[in-house]
Amino acid sequence: MKNYDRVWATVDLDAVKYNMVQMKNNIREDSKIMAVVKTDGYGHGAVPIAHEIEDMPFLHGFAVATVEEALILKGSGIRKPVLVLGYTFPYCYEKMAREEIRPTVFREDMLEEMGKAGQACGRPVKIHIKVDTGMSRIGIRPDESGLAFVKKCAETPGVEIEGIFTHFAKADEKDKTSAKKQLETFLAFTGQIHDQLGIRIPVRHCSNSAGIVELKEANLDAVRAGITLYGLWPSDEVKRDIISLQPVLSLKSRIVYIKKLEAGMEVSYGGTFVAKETMQVATIPVGYGDGYPRSLSNKGYVLIHGKKAPILGRVCMDQFMVDVSLIPEAVQSDEVTLIGRDGEESITMEELGELSGRFNYELACCLNKRVPRIYTRDGKVVYSKDSFRDFR
Ligand SMILES: *Cc1c(COP(=O)(O)O)cnc(C)c1O
Repeated sequence: MKNYDRVWATVDLDAVKYNMVQMKNNIREDSKIMAVVKTDGYGHGAVPIAHEIEDMPFLHGFAVATVEEALILKGSGIRKPVLVLGYTFPYCYEKMAREEIRPTVFREDMLEEMGKAGQACGRPVKIHIKVDTGMSRIGIRPDESGLAFVKKCAETPGVEIEGIFTHFAKADEKDKTSAKKQLETFLAFTGQIHDQLGIRIPVRHCSNSAGIVELKEANLDAVRAGITLYGLWPSDEVKRDIISLQPVLSLKSRIVYIKKLEAGMEVSYGGTFVAKETMQVATIPVGYGDGYPRSLSNKGYVLIHGKKAPILGRVCMDQFMVDVSLIPEAVQSDEVTLIGRDGEESITMEELGELSGRFNYELACCLNKRVPRIYTRDGKVVYSKDSFRDFR
């Protein structure tokens, strides 16, 4: 196994499975989980995570944002259904049909072209219809025009309606009135599809992570688990005592340099931090070029020997400095925790999101390809992934 000393993210595969079970225990017995692994599994790595959980009996399949993400999963040998949650462009319909990738459908032109692709391939494309009940993002309206669209889907050769879904705009807020209203609208619409068109769509889904935790009645045939799969919380308004989650990713580095600063010396670009007295400063070889937010300048902290070391001055593209005056045992090459636990202390993605003015989802997604990922099971490294070579 390669040594990654500069920076590395450890992804705990046991924690992923633990989170899956926690969620399963909180939803309806016959409700299945669709694992949302878009943006390379929220920065955690879609392929290793998908393979780790694929055989769990209550896993329905996977959801991604783009066809390319779906193709990567399929190419890696994933067999369970993969749904593309967003719009897909016509160039890939035949490929989707061949690979049995499920498109989200809400436009008539898309429906027609998808039908042609299904016919050309000799096997109907299994589609999921998106209903807009309040996001105003994508999806058909839950009204007469929507019913007409569903009817058209049912009549279009080359497609088969497998699922129908909607997405909550405010399920992560304390007040669930709006999410419940969306759910009601969705259920009324699927009821009409059944009663007026005589169509029963097998996979109805609307819950996201927040719904899985707090809106039991929204857990229909399937739920879509995103952020909670990674042990992160949808927002700080979601109750923490309903299910327990384990954060999956930790981010580590090493001190590359320690020096003494005298009073009056400035740190980093712009000299935004000035030493008031003699202090010990350590340099960490990580920066916004890795996705570590520049907005943590003079705000964030890291953990060294289980103690907090505050960031001094601006975070640069590839390095930043921290105060180790109160950690005299710190020496060069010591391990540094940027996200995760060290002894009694921990830094969560949520905390970093808050400190940086970003958002835990965004922070996870933005840890980029310069950061190698290491996967562990039972505390042992089982797999690693880096992209240090773009060609051979
Ligand atoms: C991203 C996404 C999800 C997952 O949301 P989480 O809050 O991460 O659980 C579910 N459904 C759709 C349509 C999405 O785009």
